[in-house]
Amino acid sequence: GEATLVSLFQKAAKEFQGNPAIHFLGKTLSFTELAAQTDQLSCYFYEIGVRKGDRVAIMLPNCPQTVIAFNAVLQLGAVVVLINPLYTERELSYQLQDSGARFLITLDLLYSKGFRMKALTKVEHLIVTSIKDYLPFPKNLLYPYLQKKTQKTVQHIKEDSNTHKWSTILKTKIANLVKEEVYSDDLALLQYTGGTTGFPKGVMLTHQNLVANTKMCTTWLYKCERGNERILGVLPLFHVYGLTTVLVLSLLEGYEMVLLPKFEIKEVLKTIDKRKPTLFPGAPTIYVGLLNDASLPEYDLSSIKACISGSSPLPAYVQEKFEDLTGGKLVEGYGLTESSPVTHANFLWGKRKQGSVGVPWPNTDAKIVSLETGESLPCGEIGEIAVKGPQVMKGYWHQEEETKQVLKDGWLFTGDLGYFDEDGYFYIVDRKKDMIIASGYNIYPREVEEVLYGYSKVKEAVVIGIPDLYRGETVKAFVVLKDGVSCSEDELDEYVRLSLASYKVPKVYEFRKDLPKTAVGKILRRVLIEEERQE
Ligand code: ATP
Repeated sequence: GEATLVSLFQKAAKEFQGNPAIHFLGKTLSFTELAAQTDQLSCYFYEIGVRKGDRVAIMLPNCPQTVIAFNAVLQLGAVVVLINPLYTERELSYQLQDSGARFLITLDLLYSKGFRMKALTKVEHLIVTSIKDYLPFPKNLLYPYLQKKTQKTVQHIKEDSNTHKWSTILKTKIANLVKEEVYSDDLALLQYTGGTTGFPKGVMLTHQNLVANTKMCTTWLYKCERGNERILGVLPLFHVYGLTTVLVLSLLEGYEMVLLPKFEIKEVLKTIDKRKPTLFPGAPTIYVGLLNDASLPEYDLSSIKACISGSSPLPAYVQEKFEDLTGGKLVEGYGLTESSPVTHANFLWGKRKQGSVGVPWPNTDAKIVSLETGESLPCGEIGEIAVKGPQVMKGYWHQEEETKQVLKDGWLFTGDLGYFDEDGYFYIVDRKKDMIIASGYNIYPREVEEVLYGYSKVKEAVVIGIPDLYRGETVKAFVVLKDGVSCSEDELDEYVRLSLASYKVPKVYEFRKDLPKTAVGKILRRVLIEEERQE
């Protein structure tokens, strides 16, 4: 049958055997070792009752265990549910409850949080690993959960029929290797959306979805060589963006993934300098962070060949500066969880356009649909972006109504507003949900935010709609100023008025020290809107 993540990984493991598959803070695992540990875990999981179609939750930071657990679950035809390890109990229990997972793989340091889930959700089995399972001497600095307070609880984890230690699993003799039939349209992943606009929804992604998106990616990376690249894995693997462009891509193409458990600017710089990754998928917040670090000139970043930036708009200066510095390419792409995630990108070694997210990927169709009439719009007109291709999800888990609203005749309605130009390059204008309507005029927050970002004293800005008696809605801006500067509301207002029609000018400004953000660094507008409502 058609290839699956399982068959393709097994193929790569045979092909690349002793080559490094994972590098983690000084420790390397080869493809052979990775395959052997995957088998070991997979057999053990079968013993404790994991069967085809079961959901198994993985709540880990970037580390070798994430990769091994991912593979092991898939080998049994079971479905992976990735969970942000920084989630609070409320967020965690929602995702476990919704997915119906009976198995939770986590870190010793998060054990007590996991344990409480037994009472709140269907979780029965906890599989507990320690960062020390792979690193006898972990670097405290790098490890966000290694705090003295939580470390004490680690020693008290007792193994029983429902609590399993990773180290024991690796030592357990395996009787027979269980071979489950896995098909390309089987579910591989129940991936919860970023939750930027509302409660996270469980996106059903199949083996085929993820394989297809990865193949498109390799087409884009045509100057890269199978079995001969290194990917810097600083994007979180629990988010679909990192999962596809770091984890799945490396496993299928025989690349080495250089994993970092956390985005720490100095560690990223040091790692590039020492481990010489050639690929570095990221998000604007990551590249901006690196470029603004004072120690930047001390490091050699010339190994970098290609980077795709997604998740939010990439400022022009970041692209230029980063390319000058590395000699590699950095281009903007676009995608969403519902499409595994990538649907568009600029060419790495070809035509690109500043401000555009590029062209649809191979085998991917895209169109712009009118919000009023539902018809396809011609070049230059703004409407909702819809995409179609083998990377588009099966639907939302247990949410038929929600699914029907976004999946129509194979087209995924992205909820993003945009347009394309005469060369077929797409531009994102804003999210449909974020659009502000004041006295019948459409206001795109992004446009206002871009103007605010243009002011030299502004570090971050976000704009939302607030209720207004006369206009229905009006604009409110939240602004974070650069360190050590002061700025008044009037000063900003005067600046903004130079570039924006008065109906778009914020009526209210609020200065803040920082803004709420998601795991990939997107500003959480929703939280600000919620705060406004409660006032
Ligand atoms: P939720 O769907 O739960 O609200 P989310 O939208 O953050 O959360 P993701 O699937 O992680 O979930 O993000 C996809 C969204 O990210 C896209 O719909 C789009 O709005 C935004 N996005 C992705 N790439 C870009 C880009 N290059 N420029 C602007 N926006 C982007």
